[in-house]
Amino acid sequence: MKKCEIDHLVDSIVKELTHSKNKYQKDDTLVPIGVSGRHCHLTKEDFATLFGKTGSLTKKGNLSQPGQFAANETVTIAGPKGSIQNLRILGPFRKHTQVEVSITDSIKLGLKPPIRESGNIEHSSPFTIIGPKGSIFMEKGLIIAKAHIHMSPNDANRFRVQDGDFVRIKIRNEYRPISFEKVKVRISPNYVLEMHIDTDEANAANIRTGEFGELVHSGDVR
Ligand SMILES: [Zn+2]
Repeated sequence: MKKCEIDHLVDSIVKELTHSKNKYQKDDTLVPIGVSGRHCHLTKEDFATLFGKTGSLTKKGNLSQPGQFAANETVTIAGPKGSIQNLRILGPFRKHTQVEVSITDSIKLGLKPPIRESGNIEHSSPFTIIGPKGSIFMEKGLIIAKAHIHMSPNDANRFRVQDGDFVRIKIRNEYRPISFEKVKVRISPNYVLEMHIDTDEANAANIRTGEFGELVHSGDVR
């Protein structure tokens, strides 16, 4: 390829990228998507049992929601049919230990956890959690996280939604167009606009973190 052809090609790629960036900034129906891999939230007490009394979480990197971070520390979880190693711990510590996995993961574990909002672990699946210094049989705490959208009050005004509303998110993929129905909106001044889905949902829609879905008002799916 001649140099002028390459220059022309680079030019058109840059133009295309700039165009799509502007389009996302201007189009106020778009919601950025964050794909949550399987992960674990721990209480301070459970962390001490699994990692030894003197240990503490160390930060690997910040997550998109302010104050939330991925820790360097990982655990193993086990169910009747199998186990999953290197499960990332997310900080800070919480009031209840909770593990969020995909349906694919739950099949590997041999468990049938309910699809729940984070924090609601009543009647969720029992499992065993294993750290470098100890293990705990948890009578509950394993869930499949329900898709949800975090947004600030400003974003909520812009989208004309209220906390607890359900919306539809359309993924406009040419070959895997998918709509997520009954996605709950969660509003807080601390939230940054992002829809959270798990790896199974992301794979079903062939999307990755940083891509966008279109928010559709859906009073009919309340
Ligand atoms: Zn979330």
